[in-house]
Amino acid sequence: MIRSTPGIGVFVTEAPTAAFARLVRRDPPRRTPVLFDTVCVLGGSIAGLLAARVLADHSRELVIVERDHLEPAVSPRPGTPQDRQVHGLLPGGLAQLERWIPGITQDIRSLGGVVLTSQEVDMYVDGVEQLQSGDTSLLQCSRPLLESALRRRVLALPNVSALSAQATGLTYRDDAVSAVRYVTEGAEREMAVDFVVDAMGRASKLSDWLEQGGYTRPTLHRMQTGVHYATAMFDRSGTDLDLRFTGARFPMLPGPGGLSVGLITPIEDDQWMIGLTVYGDSQPPRTLEEFRSLCDKLPEPFGKAASGTVTREVLTFRQADSRRRDFTGLTRFPARVVSVGDAAISLNATYAQGMSSAALHASCLSEYLGGEPDLAAPAETYFSLQKTAMDAVWAVSAGADAARTEILQGIEVPDEVQRQRWKMGQLALASATDETVAEALKAVGYMFAHPDTLTDPALIERAVAVNRRVTAGG
Ligand SMILES: Cc1cc2nc3c(=O)[nH]c(=O)nc-3n(C[C@H](O)[C@H](O)[C@H](O)COP(=O)(O)OP(=O)(O)OC[C@H]3O[C@@H](n4cnc5c(N)ncnc54)[C@H](O)[C@@H]3O)c2cc1C
Repeated sequence: MIRSTPGIGVFVTEAPTAAFARLVRRDPPRRTPVLFDTVCVLGGSIAGLLAARVLADHSRELVIVERDHLEPAVSPRPGTPQDRQVHGLLPGGLAQLERWIPGITQDIRSLGGVVLTSQEVDMYVDGVEQLQSGDTSLLQCSRPLLESALRRRVLALPNVSALSAQATGLTYRDDAVSAVRYVTEGAEREMAVDFVVDAMGRASKLSDWLEQGGYTRPTLHRMQTGVHYATAMFDRSGTDLDLRFTGARFPMLPGPGGLSVGLITPIEDDQWMIGLTVYGDSQPPRTLEEFRSLCDKLPEPFGKAASGTVTREVLTFRQADSRRRDFTGLTRFPARVVSVGDAAISLNATYAQGMSSAALHASCLSEYLGGEPDLAAPAETYFSLQKTAMDAVWAVSAGADAARTEILQGIEVPDEVQRQRWKMGQLALASATDETVAEALKAVGYMFAHPDTLTDPALIERAVAVNRRVTAGG
């Protein structure tokens, strides 16, 4: 598919696969012009920290405004209640983290994080074990450890500082954001800024603040998911199991006990973190007994790992929907403001895309600012690139969620959609036995490639041929 993308004063025509391939590159940015005196990033979590890292190259001073007190570190932080659930970092996201913060993998490893190779991964889809090949690295650690390692590196940059404050609004001048309003220690204050990044997560108030300034609200799209998560942690030191990451996914129909996904990951302090996910009316396990009984129904090492000493009891979390805000094509929008991470797109966490998607937004920012954009105009080039990244991740998770709902509820879908799903089904089936198909699917799932790469007719033909051979017993 080819479409038009607004560039700097001209319209360039670019396939989303090509734009996506640029965003996932790993080399340092070619151009880092200093464009600003003061930049303010609202929200100091994963997306805010990565945006701050990129913007530090383009500004003399950068301030991260975060409402939580970050020292001493507590988990869960009130601002990130999700941080006690399993947080898998996709290999594509890890590559982006290394792009922006070289050596971060080693930092996290030295704090107890675990790096696994593809050969140390077991993945089951509907009970069928998937082929694992290639030499991809997977970094396993808890979300608080990842965030604190990132924060340490970003705050060590000479022009970056953190301000403990609650952002409360924006001030505009000449159709551009000119200041950030915030409350700290009970007092209201204002900071003059040249550029603002909204990294306030899925409950961001940016849309309200834009409307209050007389601007158009970005369009909010929601998809009901009703996902329940349950995570518990177990001692790994006494277990005689290999260090393995294991995932079991039941793509369309609920698995045992209503289970949709089970993940087991070795993390710091010699622990297993196990996460289980159920949808809709199914209830997540809330007691240790319920948790262990569900793990016993999954492939090993779930049962064995959950039989060890519990180091943190079962904690549950519910997310009602996936949502995205579309900032393109708005009639009135101010200059010098963008949105990143969950504030722009918050996804069904079972696909583990959120942190990696936030890393792609950092790359969008880098490309936008490296092009020395017209800063008196809205950041259209940025939003357009970000839309490419958002469309790609949304297609993977919301596409699968829509299929799931329609199949479970017996909803009829148009022939074209059925054909597409049949093709994806052929790829999924062939990935259990064919390395080429498995690699293509993994590249998309791991966020190295755009999902449109899976529509290649040669790949589909290969999958169909592989499946025919397997069915015929060849
Ligand atoms: C249950 C669950 C499991 C998940 N699992 C995974 C996973 O396996 N892999 C993965 O990649 N992602 C996962 N995610 C998603 C991941 O948590 C987010 O995508 C990721 O944290 C990026 O979020 P963010 O930085 O945009 O926002 P958040 O992490 O939500 O942070 C927003 C920050 O903004 C601050 N803030 C908000 N309002 C203000 C204000 N007015 N003033 C100042 N500060 C403010 C908050 O305190 C917070 O620090 C999961 C999410 C959930 C809910």
